[in-house]
Amino acid sequence: MSKITLANLSHSYLDKQSLDSDWALKNINLDWKDGGAYALLGPSGCGKTTLLNIISGLLNPTKGKILFDGKDITSLSPVERNIAQIFQFPVIYDTMTVYDNLAFPLKNRGMSDGEIDTRVKEIAEMLELTNTLNNRAAGLTADGKQKISLGRGLVRANVNVIMFDEPLTVIDPHLKWILRSKLKELHQKINRTMIYVTHDQTEALTFADQVVVMHEGQIVQTGTPVELFEKPKHTFVGHFIGSPGMNILPCELNDGIAAIDGVKIETGSQIKKSNFTKTEIGIRPEFVSFSKDGIPVKVLKVSNTGRYKIIDTICKSGKIKVLSHSSQNIPTESTYLSFDKKFTYAYGDNWIIE
Ligand code: ADP
Ligand code: MG
Repeated sequence: MSKITLANLSHSYLDKQSLDSDWALKNINLDWKDGGAYALLGPSGCGKTTLLNIISGLLNPTKGKILFDGKDITSLSPVERNIAQIFQFPVIYDTMTVYDNLAFPLKNRGMSDGEIDTRVKEIAEMLELTNTLNNRAAGLTADGKQKISLGRGLVRANVNVIMFDEPLTVIDPHLKWILRSKLKELHQKINRTMIYVTHDQTEALTFADQVVVMHEGQIVQTGTPVELFEKPKHTFVGHFIGSPGMNILPCELNDGIAAIDGVKIETGSQIKKSNFTKTEIGIRPEFVSFSKDGIPVKVLKVSNTGRYKIIDTICKSGKIKVLSHSSQNIPTESTYLSFDKKFTYAYGDNWIIE
């Protein structure tokens, strides 16, 4: 088991870099505690797999270091790092039985047959593969194959870290729920550092204690699911997390006072003089309500999901979504909106003004 530190890590797939976009990873710094459950969350192409491959040693970073328990391991081979990595698409041996597929990583390391048998059966039980242990892997569905792939990653007890790269992509939705909660259960049982990569916020938020949000090769925020929801440090976190995401509106900032359409907005941010090129207000739909005064808006559309209503409104500066209880009466046409000050933040060039 290890604490993992990434220090000033940058990576480019090009030999020469001139543009910001030539970098797949840009100055990544983070600490992952020993035994934690972490998620790496971000859209396709933001650099998640690149980061995992650098941690496991499949890829050498262009700049920076990787440390395990404070020791620089940047030049160690993947085998020496002793990490289990589960890839997005199943990696299994079709001609072997399910049992032999699971046993393979253990046989390779010279474990006794008795120990192997115990471990394989334990993992098979957890993944509901017990009845298929003697079948050939070739005949299994995509779900079944990915379960074996997961099993092969989980079967070794003494790894430093287990990393999952979007492991549920090919899995049927209802089985996703089951496997995800099994992984969480397993984490609580074996207490090993786990890094779970996904582009799906629900997966990240249900699996992890700490979520690292990535955007264009950068880490934009690390926090608990509640922190990411209540106080997005970057506008990207605001609109990527939440359903619907945060409302982000252009605002004027004068003498420390923020205003939208000339209406003063109280925020949780301490705004001093600003020399930003872009200033915005962020407020989640959950914290917007209809009121007698505030920002004048027109109601465009009401969608009732049964549990709550999502109301699309528009003011001069843009659209504002409101989330309200489904029994609440919604004003028609012209009305006003007010924001809960505690959850209203000002952003300068996309970063929160604290
Ligand atoms: P993610 O896993 O978040 O989808 P990746 O780490 O795969 O993102 O990719 C990050 C960026 O690096 C993307 O712009 C992608 O096109 C680029 N990239 C990934 N792998 C390679 C490669 N082998 N050669 C060149 N560019 C790559
Ligand atoms: Mg990827």
